[in-house]
Amino acid sequence: MRVIVTGGAGFIGSALVRYLVRDRGWEVLNVDKLTYAANLQSLSSLSGRSNYRFMQADIGDHVAMRHAFSDFQPDGVMHLAAESHVDRSISSSAEFIKTNVLGTHVLLEAARRYWSELPVTRGDTFRFLHVSTDEVFGTLDEGDFFTETTAYDPRSPYSASKASSDHLVSAWRETYGLPTLITNCSNNYGPYHFPEKLIPLILLNALEKKPLPVYGDGRQVRDWLYVEDHVKALTTVLERGRIGETYNVGGRAPTENITVVERICDLLDARVPNEVPRRNLIRFVTDRPGHDRRYAIDPTKIETELGWRAEKTFDTGITATVDWYLNNDWWWRPLRENVYSGTRLGLLADPAPAKTELAENSV
Ligand code: NAD
Repeated sequence: MRVIVTGGAGFIGSALVRYLVRDRGWEVLNVDKLTYAANLQSLSSLSGRSNYRFMQADIGDHVAMRHAFSDFQPDGVMHLAAESHVDRSISSSAEFIKTNVLGTHVLLEAARRYWSELPVTRGDTFRFLHVSTDEVFGTLDEGDFFTETTAYDPRSPYSASKASSDHLVSAWRETYGLPTLITNCSNNYGPYHFPEKLIPLILLNALEKKPLPVYGDGRQVRDWLYVEDHVKALTTVLERGRIGETYNVGGRAPTENITVVERICDLLDARVPNEVPRRNLIRFVTDRPGHDRRYAIDPTKIETELGWRAEKTFDTGITATVDWYLNNDWWWRPLRENVYSGTRLGLLADPAPAKTELAENSV
């Protein structure tokens, strides 16, 4: 297989590229603009691999996207490039609309043009997989789960931009026949996660004995998915998913934020003992505007139809994640020192990132 992966220098994209290049032996062209969220160090283990190529480009650049397709001649596209941090979308939404909506449109048009000129045999097997989020469905009541037929109800600038891109992808399938698939997944975590998001931020703050800010009452529920399970799900959907379908991907691990934070504290206390328990560092801070209360995925469709199932429980996944961060400070230390140190983002009263309050999460 030859695939274009967009956003392959980000958190999930880099896990996907490592998996496809190393474990599956696929030919991969990684198309990434290299925003603040990108890190080519996450792909350093691929240096010298002849089946991996990188192209620095914006998915909103028509000419560059056309060249990417015509030069690389892919069998499929796995589209992950996006602005992905909810808090940043609250402070400044423009980039979210530009990349997530307009960029997806440019990519769809480049893919359509390329696909329409393929010989029939290759055109029949071409696939465009769009990677989206469960946040497009809005918030859930206790005991409810998102399925593939849940109505869209996006409530943040980020989720609204992702919902828009999902609709564009579906429209390109219905109107032009482009062979598309969509996945909507829950919150990912694992190695190489940029430290503005809940789990790596809390982990690194706790390691450095800094305050651990928790939004609101900390009882918001997120359904955690280990990133290496997720990339196998994406590959399964690209290979065996039914054209035009959407698949919800989740790890069957709905967990309250406060429980996640406490678990990280306890794991660190066991590995790097501190004179006082790290739970004492927890501080409840002003909630995020429009913070959705509960997300939980019902992954029955992908499990029964395609035979994929998350291998990691939340407990085994979070343990592996804590151990990875403890053993890989070469990766995260430069980011903490030079790119993002943990200032709070996304407060309504402050359109520019605030310097005073520490961020908790992006979930
Ligand atoms: P990320 O922010 O870590 O990485 C995004 C990557 O996209 C970066 O490498 C960035 O440089 C690149 N990018 C941004 N704008 C671009 C542009 N205009 N052109 C080319 N490249 C561009 O994101 P992630 O967490 O890896 O998420 C990947 C995808 O999965 C996104 O589409 C996101 O919406 C979706 N998703 C993520 C989660 C999660 O928990 N992280 C959950 C559900 C869905």
